[in-house]
Amino acid sequence: MPLNVKTRRKRSKRIAVTLLSGLLPMVLGAAILSMQAERALKQSSGGTAEEAVRQFDLMLDNTAQAAQVLLPLSGQPCTDVKLALRDQVTRRPFVRSTNLVWDNTIYCSSLFGDYQEKVNPGDYTQGKLWLMNGNPVTPDTALLVYRLNDGNRGALTTLDGYHLSNVLRLIGRKTQLLLQVGPDWLSADGKVHEAALPALPVAESKLTSSRYAFTVAAGFPAGETWRYMRSEYPPLFSLLIFFGAVFSSIGHFLQKRSSSPSHEMQRALEALEFVPYFQPVVHGDTKKWSGAEVLMRWQHPKEGLVRPDLFIPFAEHSGLIVPMTRSLMRQTAALLAPAVGSFGAPFHIGINITASHCKDLELVDDCREFLGAFAPGAVSLVLELTERELIEPLPITLQLFEQLHALGVLIAIDDFGTGHSSLGYLRQFNVDFLKIDQSFVAMIGADALSRHILDSIIELSAKLDLGIVAEGVETEEQSNYLTAHGVNFLQGYLFDRPMPAAQFINALSHR
Ligand code: C2E
Ligand code: CA
Ligand code: CA
Repeated sequence: MPLNVKTRRKRSKRIAVTLLSGLLPMVLGAAILSMQAERALKQSSGGTAEEAVRQFDLMLDNTAQAAQVLLPLSGQPCTDVKLALRDQVTRRPFVRSTNLVWDNTIYCSSLFGDYQEKVNPGDYTQGKLWLMNGNPVTPDTALLVYRLNDGNRGALTTLDGYHLSNVLRLIGRKTQLLLQVGPDWLSADGKVHEAALPALPVAESKLTSSRYAFTVAAGFPAGETWRYMRSEYPPLFSLLIFFGAVFSSIGHFLQKRSSSPSHEMQRALEALEFVPYFQPVVHGDTKKWSGAEVLMRWQHPKEGLVRPDLFIPFAEHSGLIVPMTRSLMRQTAALLAPAVGSFGAPFHIGINITASHCKDLELVDDCREFLGAFAPGAVSLVLELTERELIEPLPITLQLFEQLHALGVLIAIDDFGTGHSSLGYLRQFNVDFLKIDQSFVAMIGADALSRHILDSIIELSAKLDLGIVAEGVETEEQSNYLTAHGVNFLQGYLFDRPMPAAQFINALSHR
């Protein structure tokens, strides 16, 4: 059945789709924000590294200048140059100590004067820089030693690690900054580490000085991207949540729409899946075809042929019954108009109409269009109104029936005997035919009371000068009884079942 009740699985699928359609834009938006935050952090770490390299270059310039001044003095006795060594230490803000070297041996120091210590050029990165964890005087204070050499002559000047770690701390307030010289690196706490430079978790930038043999690494601790997003993008986050809510509502709405019976029927209507079947009505005496009732079927792409009682109630409820009936009338006219020569005029064509349809004056136009498709007088259009639903005599309804009669449209009361008709009702709507409900026909030969009701209906119709159609005629006995009692028209499986248009037209042309 195409319009079945929603199952639990369908509902959980719908909830999942609703949640997903809300989450997806939020996740996507968060991913974009996170990329944006990483870019901003990368820019910041790159800028910090550049600034640190600039500062270290300036400090090393200062240290290198001292070495350049002292190098020509190398080879002179320490007592003669001791003062010049101390003079550089006092004059230059970043220089902590100075030493003169001869033949790779320190022989004079600003701290100790005469002094002897071997120099190993291999300790110096590119022969120039050595990051040390202190010297005999200050064992735990980092030093950066600058070496200048020319033949036997040499000068060593040292840069105080305090200045270096100060730069690492002050420039990189929010950034983690490290200074690498050869195999060692210095952290902002002033400690020298003899190990490979650790990778910085977020937005790492490395920059090597173009003038001295050192590299600066800048970056952020783990979780910085999220912290940055939280502090910088709160309005954007609210916007994301808003979009998430909007998208999940849209998702929910679209699903609800596409899964609702009325949406499914709207789709079917546009796809022309509601098609007419035809059941002949025969003359009581001659058994010749006098007309046909048009019965709607749903040619469902998955469910196959669907009976009208399974979907007509939904169609009435959603208001789609009006356009569906219109489509059925148009299809019927298009199918039967070319076969009009096979009819014994006037051929009665019965169309079923619901009570709700009787408040819609457009029905008059639909009937006019239908009759206009045939040669004048070739067909009689009979609207079948079921007695099960009460038609209220509203002014608009009375106006509708008046206009229908003016057009020559006939009215039949369907399922007669089962509902609310009174004599007044029959007169008010200017009824032309009564269709006796099949439940009475089925009781022919069964019990006397039903037969009595049947006989009264037949009598009443004769008195009111109404045509009478018996529905659901299945046996010869019923057919004979009805004919003997003067019922003009018979309809039922005994003669023909409802059939598709092609079969109906084929049968018509062979009669
Ligand atoms: P209905 O108007 O009373 O139509 C007669 C029903 O009796 C049809 O069922 C027909 O197939 C069935 N029938 C005909 N001869 C026999 C018989 O000898 N024995 C038995 N047991 N049944 C017989 P169907 O086609 O399933 O239609 C059911 C109902 O759906 C119709 O009852 C009518 O109320 C409604 N319907 C069908 N088409 C339309 C339509 O286009 N518009 C509206 N509003 N209602 C429709
Ligand atoms: Ca009917
Ligand atoms: Ca009926």
